[in-house]
Amino acid sequence: MSETQNEFDTESAVYRTLLESTRAIPWKIDWATMKFAYIGPQIEPLLGWSQDSWLTAEDWAMRIHPEDREQVVNFCISQSKAGVDHEADYRALTKDSGYVWIRDVVHVARNEAGEVDSLIGFMFDISERKKAEEKLISLQRELEALSFKDGLTGVSNRRRFDATLDTEWASARRSAQPLSLIMLDVDFFKQYNDRYGHAQGDECLKNVAQTLALAVTRPRDIVARFGGEEFALILPETDADAASKVAERCLRLIENQHIPHEASAIGKFVTVSMGVGTIEDVAGADPRHFVEAVDKLLYQAKRNGRNRMESASL
Ligand code: GH3
Ligand code: MG
Ligand code: MG
Repeated sequence: MSETQNEFDTESAVYRTLLESTRAIPWKIDWATMKFAYIGPQIEPLLGWSQDSWLTAEDWAMRIHPEDREQVVNFCISQSKAGVDHEADYRALTKDSGYVWIRDVVHVARNEAGEVDSLIGFMFDISERKKAEEKLISLQRELEALSFKDGLTGVSNRRRFDATLDTEWASARRSAQPLSLIMLDVDFFKQYNDRYGHAQGDECLKNVAQTLALAVTRPRDIVARFGGEEFALILPETDADAASKVAERCLRLIENQHIPHEASAIGKFVTVSMGVGTIEDVAGADPRHFVEAVDKLLYQAKRNGRNRMESASL
């Protein structure tokens, strides 16, 4: 054996040791035959499939989670054909029917003529990172649920509505002051979504919410998204007269927004209907019944033609 050959062998032994001791799993696929020329022995402790069971690119594809397979395979094939280095995250199936999140980083190697010769890559186990990401997403969801703000419109959410109604109810009982509530629903909103699409529908709800926020002036007043396209305004220490004035302002401000609504049966623009209820003395009354009674007023306004309010002292 020549000295250079000897050096080469020593050198490749060094490389092999390096490759097989890293946590990333090296592999090589011959482009012409789509066969594995090499895959690191670390693959077996990670996925359970023995090193010599990785024969072709097909074996790789079949060991991708069925939900990820088509997209990942198509992506990797098209990138490789285009000669572009790339990476893909996917769930690799384990021999015992579980899966491991993998990031596969792929380099497209060419021969001297510039043609694709082989794909050389590293698989990284990114399960821990994925777990952290999933945890973060679920924490964000929890935070949203704990928050008092409606995610779409930025006004108070239903949680804050319920909490505020309870505290204002208690406060009205102590001070023997009246309490008013406005329930408001967008007219023909189903037709709005059908005509303009759901995304535009969301924009419309944002616009309505912001307009309502302008209609209330006192610091303890709150505007809340009660659900869907229904809003509620709690007006503490507000009698029936003052509440009607606020409701009229809401009607006018929303009409003046001139939000086009070609599918509305009653006009060209988005309108709302309202129930306006005032309770002079909350002692002995139940806040949930109050909400129900005001909701009935709202539906009376709908029956009476929409784009209007119905008010009552309850
Ligand atoms: P009415 O005048 O009697 O109130 O008729 P309407 O069409 O407004 O009432 P309906 O309750 O039949 O429809 C409400 C629609 O509001 C149906 C629902 O898809 C839509 N909606 C509820 N929440 C949202 C939302 O967050 N975004 C969008 N874009 N649409 C919503
Ligand atoms: Mg509704
Ligand atoms: Mg509606």
